[in-house]
Amino acid sequence: MDEKPSPGTLSESSEPLFSFGVIADIQYANLEDGYNYQGNRRRYYRHSLLHLQGAIEHWNKESTPPPCCVLQLGDIIDGYNAQYKASERSLELVMNTFQMLQVPVHHTWGNHEFYNFSRDYLTNSKLNTKFLEDQSVHRPENVSSGSYYAYHFVPFPKFRFILLDAYDLSVLGVDQSSPKYQQCLRMLKEHNPNMELNSPQGLSEPQFVQFNGGFSQEQLNWLNEVLTFSDTNQEKVVIVSHLPIYPKASDTVCLAWNYRDALTVIWSHECVVCFFAGHTHDGGYCKDPFGVHHVNLEGVIETAPDSQAFGTVYVYPDKMMLKGRGRVPDRIMNYKKEKAFHF
Ligand SMILES: [Zn+2]
Repeated sequence: MDEKPSPGTLSESSEPLFSFGVIADIQYANLEDGYNYQGNRRRYYRHSLLHLQGAIEHWNKESTPPPCCVLQLGDIIDGYNAQYKASERSLELVMNTFQMLQVPVHHTWGNHEFYNFSRDYLTNSKLNTKFLEDQSVHRPENVSSGSYYAYHFVPFPKFRFILLDAYDLSVLGVDQSSPKYQQCLRMLKEHNPNMELNSPQGLSEPQFVQFNGGFSQEQLNWLNEVLTFSDTNQEKVVIVSHLPIYPKASDTVCLAWNYRDALTVIWSHECVVCFFAGHTHDGGYCKDPFGVHHVNLEGVIETAPDSQAFGTVYVYPDKMMLKGRGRVPDRIMNYKKEKAFHF
């Protein structure tokens, strides 16, 4: 049903080194179907759980090779749950479904996590998968663990995955009496004079809306340290964040507030292969001028019951291949060309 012609070298015979699953914006709620804010995209609140079940059954059956893990790109339950006091019940239902998955899942946090829960609640919840952090290899020195939710892990030798916190700077999930809330609100209002802070109307930088967030300098310094280590050790790096950071791969209203700062760090390193994000629901892709592949995954919540929205990424010595299911297209992500040796 969802078989598509394989582009280019997707049909090659060599075995992948390993693989991993990706899924975004499940946004489950026990509600009748609805529409997005613009009223032009249908949202299948109940069916999203069945889409997740289908994805998990698929990953559990995959054998060449079985995925090493799944990356859940955030917005696991919908903000509506808070209104109906169903946040905990809905989260439990989705987490029970994830229990069926036979491999670890890494959870990213999006705006809908913060519509339902405080940061403290999330930190103590099953959505905190920092315990899966790579302990054995490297912990950059002189970098404090910070108040943000970010970590890195090594699912296969020489491949490092980094999970970023795109709501590190945000007015969501933060105690309104805290200095950090005041700082973030000031930053948001400096760029967004609208009464309704979720509105990008008239903004020269439309990403400065309340439903987005950004990366603190502390987190960016940590990212820089990890990427320096990966460069030194000739690793390949995959980065995961709820919010996208590359304008040409995304609707600009969906970008992280200070996406440029994140790009500056990433572009100063050789090791980054691709950057996976959710949040946009429509999906998107672009290879940037530094050879980093930006993939915005199609959201489960806006996926009709007769389709699907997830993927498996197969990792080869020279490239990664996203095999998309349903709405998610296939993508070939070649690694950057090695720098020529100079004698
Ligand atoms: Zn989101």
